[in-house]
Amino acid sequence: MDKNALNFASLGDDFFSPIETQTLKNAFLIHKNQALYQKLEIGLDDKTLLKVASGTAKFQNSQPIASIYAGHQFGYFVPQLGDGRSCLIGQANGHELSLKGAGQTPFSRGADGRCVLRSSIREYLASIAMHGLGIPTTEALTLVGSQSEVYRENIEFGAIVMRTAPSHIRFGNFELFASRGQIVQVKKLADFVIRHHYPQCLGKNKYSDFLVLVIKRTAKMIATWQAQGFEHGVMNTDNMSILGLTIDYGPFGFLEKYDPKFICNHSDHEGRYAFDQQPGVALWNLSRLADALNSLISDQQIKAALAQYQGYLVRYYSNLMRTKFGLFTKDENDNQLIGDFLNILYKHKKDYTNSIRGLSNLQNLAADGHYKTWLKSYQSRIEQDKNINREALMNQVNPKFILRNYLAEVAIRKAQNDNDYREIGVLFDLLSKPFEQHLSMEKYTSEAPDWAQDLQVSCSS
Ligand code: AMP
Ligand code: MG
Repeated sequence: MDKNALNFASLGDDFFSPIETQTLKNAFLIHKNQALYQKLEIGLDDKTLLKVASGTAKFQNSQPIASIYAGHQFGYFVPQLGDGRSCLIGQANGHELSLKGAGQTPFSRGADGRCVLRSSIREYLASIAMHGLGIPTTEALTLVGSQSEVYRENIEFGAIVMRTAPSHIRFGNFELFASRGQIVQVKKLADFVIRHHYPQCLGKNKYSDFLVLVIKRTAKMIATWQAQGFEHGVMNTDNMSILGLTIDYGPFGFLEKYDPKFICNHSDHEGRYAFDQQPGVALWNLSRLADALNSLISDQQIKAALAQYQGYLVRYYSNLMRTKFGLFTKDENDNQLIGDFLNILYKHKKDYTNSIRGLSNLQNLAADGHYKTWLKSYQSRIEQDKNINREALMNQVNPKFILRNYLAEVAIRKAQNDNDYREIGVLFDLLSKPFEQHLSMEKYTSEAPDWAQDLQVSCSS
């Protein structure tokens, strides 16, 4: 198998449309993910890379394509969606390369196929932040700016992110064919995904084994979101990766002051995708995927597969939370202890990330009266784990740095107002190693300043 041939293209034209990318005016490279660039063995000089990353030149003569999918958006089925502003431009070392913002496709539905600089900066930084946290995600290779004018509420500049993943296939790709009764295509797509991405399922029950593994990976992704305080914001089934990767960064947010009802997407008036809804929504989305696979898997097997979700989720989540709290042996009261701590955070509007990072240093915690009673139980509990190097182990899973909304906003404003892109690099370096001390960078752990209390983000831009 040629690891640089775009495998997805072998599916045939029921699955995508060939497109021409539309380049940007005076495109320039703002940032490149050097580690990823090396991992993918791209081997282009920056000048050629810019041409590829801005949609000016093809990657290794590969034909760009836009894939077609459907999806449940906010609970309602939309029979046809697709890559309206993204496209696959090739494959490198087993990873698809996708440009986001390179112009219209047959699936743009009248929209311009562009991305503005601010949303591209957010996606670029979110991708490295999630990767740094060890959360399964698509990764961004390049961020390109330009002088192309893009019309939103104001005139803004267009930008392109090149994102990469072993596959960008979504639950919605299956839903499209299933909803049209095209079971041959459903099977072809499932066979493709299993062959390339779930080869361990190639056996007697391959389709149900595949569904079980998608459920398992999705549960793991959601568990890490919940433990590290990430809210996606638009968990439509067209934004759910078949590989269990976090995909399509839009109005996402990290929890700052702890609030399980946090809603980062300003357009989500009902709170359908609020922070504490994510585990349930993922199961609902997996059920829609299972419906789309019902020509391949018996109802009984589907039921049994979906029934495993909760167990996986709870196991992954509680293991991670126990490590975050430095609980290395098991005690039946641990959930209660963790829950009590979160209640204190909620009641006193405390920062989720900083408070949990602070657990490795009990002296600091003792200085805050709100923790007084809780700290007594905690101290006696961790006596049990005495000989363990708590602080180091906890600091490996409790980040010091997250992509706070205001930090992204500072980088965005400098870029938009002063053509100064340096802050993007600063945040990139910090967020790629969020567990390390970076002692000269303490100010990046600060909570949102007053001017940033009401920052709002909403759907696609
Ligand atoms: P998203 O919320 O970014 O996942 O987008 C939902 C759908 O709308 C996807 O099918 C996108 O391709 C499409 N879309 C969003 N913004 C644009 C745009 N500016 N131009 C064309 N299509 C878009
Ligand atoms: Mg999407």
